[in-house]
Amino acid sequence: MIVYNFSAGPAVLPKEVLQKAQAEFLNYAGSEMSVMELSHRSSLYDQIIKEAEHLLRELMAIPDNYHVLFLQGGASLQFSIIPLNLAQGKKALYINTGAWSKKAISAAEQVPGVEVEVIATSEDQNFTYVPEVTVDQIDQEAAYVHITTNETIGGVTYDKLPQTGEVPLVADMSSNILANDFKVTDFGLIYAGAQKNLGPSGVTLVIIRDDLLNKEPIFAPMLDFALQAKNRSLYNTPPTYAIYIMKLVLEWVKAQGGVQGMIEKDQAKAQLLYQAIDRSKLFSNPVAINNRSITNIPFVTGDEKLDQLFNKEALVAGFQNLKGHRSVGGMRASLYNAFPYEGVEALVDFMQAFEQKYGGEK
Ligand SMILES: *Cc1c(COP(=O)(O)O)cnc(C)c1O
Repeated sequence: MIVYNFSAGPAVLPKEVLQKAQAEFLNYAGSEMSVMELSHRSSLYDQIIKEAEHLLRELMAIPDNYHVLFLQGGASLQFSIIPLNLAQGKKALYINTGAWSKKAISAAEQVPGVEVEVIATSEDQNFTYVPEVTVDQIDQEAAYVHITTNETIGGVTYDKLPQTGEVPLVADMSSNILANDFKVTDFGLIYAGAQKNLGPSGVTLVIIRDDLLNKEPIFAPMLDFALQAKNRSLYNTPPTYAIYIMKLVLEWVKAQGGVQGMIEKDQAKAQLLYQAIDRSKLFSNPVAINNRSITNIPFVTGDEKLDQLFNKEALVAGFQNLKGHRSVGGMRASLYNAFPYEGVEALVDFMQAFEQKYGGEK
């Protein structure tokens, strides 16, 4: 049976990447060792981590005044250490667009010496849009403005970035990095857990502008951006295998036409599903048209029992991980870069058949 994996993360990886990893699993580059067995200080591994950084710089056009860090602790640790490093004795501004913004805000609020202010929220309409922010709302003395470029649970994304004046924009791009054409130079710091669109879990990407590195040491060296940058992510043992797989994913993205190639494919997939949802009398998606995510698409029937039935029958038909996040229910299709177009076609057919069977008079 063909299985399509709609997981929001850890998520589907390109088959070619997994096959390449399998082929060199026991013997990497003639070394008779697995990448997993290489010293992180060996020249063979050094080539891997340098190439991963090089590819990312090329694909995202990252300028030289930005550092690329491969860290651990997930995007969730960044929620704490970004304010810790960037906002000591300062105000940190947040835009609240949903579940992940909320987590980032609440973690920042717990960092000593940081004053958190939520400058805009879409909570009034259950996080189904991105609130407007104008530059006069931004305290120009603030350390940064934090946004979540794509709300993975709500399926909400920015159609245009907020204007922040001189205040750097900090972005959680976990679920739409390499699936949008944002310019790195519009941001002071970008971070992303790898397990959505970059590779396996275990490595967290941070791209930070040089002038934002902390000038004073942080009490815990592992949490110190300046120290990590100085050591090129090799202060201690990095997640070597995860970085290696990320490198293979980046090679794959490049071969697919780079970020622009990915965006075109992602848009085609998303459009197919949104059209099916919008044509349907049974399924709906609540997000404002301009803010609809192309990577995470939630939908519901409006009847919890029917959602449950849909999820049950979808599983039997080979559609894995379509169930919505446990906090919201319903369904959610995550259509990251590695997700195949055929999977969306199959899902749309399945949705139509389900609607014919159970749609009733709605
Ligand atoms: C998944 C996700 C996170 C959490 O990532 P972890 O690596 O599990 O900590 C944070 N933000 C967004 C937008 C996500 O999608």
